Amino acid sequence: MLTQWLIGLIASTFFRKVFVDRKGHNLQTDSRSNILDFSPAELETIVTELGDKKFRASQIFGWLAKGVSSFDEMKNVPAALRNSLADKYFIGLPEAVKKQESKDGTVKCLFEFPDGTQIESVFMKYEYGNSICISSQSGCRMGCSFCASTMDGLDRSLTRGEMLGQVLAMRNLTGEDIGHVVVMGMGEPFDNYDELSGFIRLIHDRKGYDLGLRNITVSTCGLIPKIKEFASDFPQVNLAVSLHAPNQELRARTMPVAKKFAYDDLIRACREYTEVTGRRITFEYAVIDGVNDSAECAEELSSRMRGWLSHVNLIPLNEVKGREYRKANERSVAAFRRILENNGVAVTVRRTLGSDIDAACGQLRRNR
Ligand code: SAH
Repeated sequence: MLTQWLIGLIASTFFRKVFVDRKGHNLQTDSRSNILDFSPAELETIVTELGDKKFRASQIFGWLAKGVSSFDEMKNVPAALRNSLADKYFIGLPEAVKKQESKDGTVKCLFEFPDGTQIESVFMKYEYGNSICISSQSGCRMGCSFCASTMDGLDRSLTRGEMLGQVLAMRNLTGEDIGHVVVMGMGEPFDNYDELSGFIRLIHDRKGYDLGLRNITVSTCGLIPKIKEFASDFPQVNLAVSLHAPNQELRARTMPVAKKFAYDDLIRACREYTEVTGRRITFEYAVIDGVNDSAECAEELSSRMRGWLSHVNLIPLNEVKGREYRKANERSVAAFRRILENNGVAVTVRRTLGSDIDAACGQLRRNR
């Protein structure tokens, strides 16, 4: 009897933890949707179906952009509508399950969505204002061999509302305005293109967060067809491309994506992007000791970058537990930079923020 009771108790506690979210909604039977996923036009359909007037949609969209976590906070929305919304929808802000703060003001969060999916977001302070680095997927299937996010493959892609939710939750958490968004956290944004585009439209919407397109940067490992699509869909949004090598052979060694999209084709697509949009591309180059940090690499990279709207951002490698790569020392990074400069290539060395915390993308989730 007692044993049965004990087993029952343990089982019910376990299942409660797994299947019930923090607000007590049963995730197994919960068919509610994340209201953050909807545009003002879609919200109009939702509120009219619930028997209210179209203009309520703008009110609700405005409240969501303020970061409210419950429908009851939407003061000018009638209680009847708030209740019927809560029956069908939830406000999918992620919860910070782990938080690290650096002396320089950087805040790194392990966020968890109601279904238990965990991702990372980082808040950073720059001279030009505050910025957040958000994730577009939990895990990643691109397989770059120096990156922590890809070690367990792809868990799942995030929705547009889950990308927006990271910005709202981070603003709530820090109490600071966030005027720049970089999609450079976990995942490959162009492997989740529809949701990425939906997110950009949501956060740019004047009725909501109203973020300027020029204040958004998307980073890709180089999915060529999507670079072309992005140039035509969002010519005002900044693009960064993770290059990390001066040629095909070296790139294919660390980035499996190079086997699908060859180096020369990638550079050609990037040049086309700059011609179509009139905007420069930032190429990220993590300098790895003994792999891509030689003077020959710098000369070869210069020859590919010279004479068009390119910019190289040298990144000191974040060493990842379980990966053999080591970061190049400061002297070789400085020498690498000088070679690019002498060849007339625009180059910067990324300022390291949050170096006293688990700064490398994907590390916080693995160290839980
Ligand atoms: N998938 C996208 C965005 C996510 S990664 C992309 O590849 O661009 C964001 C940036 O961090 C990329 O440039 C990526 O190559 C780089 N990165 C990944 N692991 C790193 C590490 N250990 N040290 C330094 N940069 C790293």
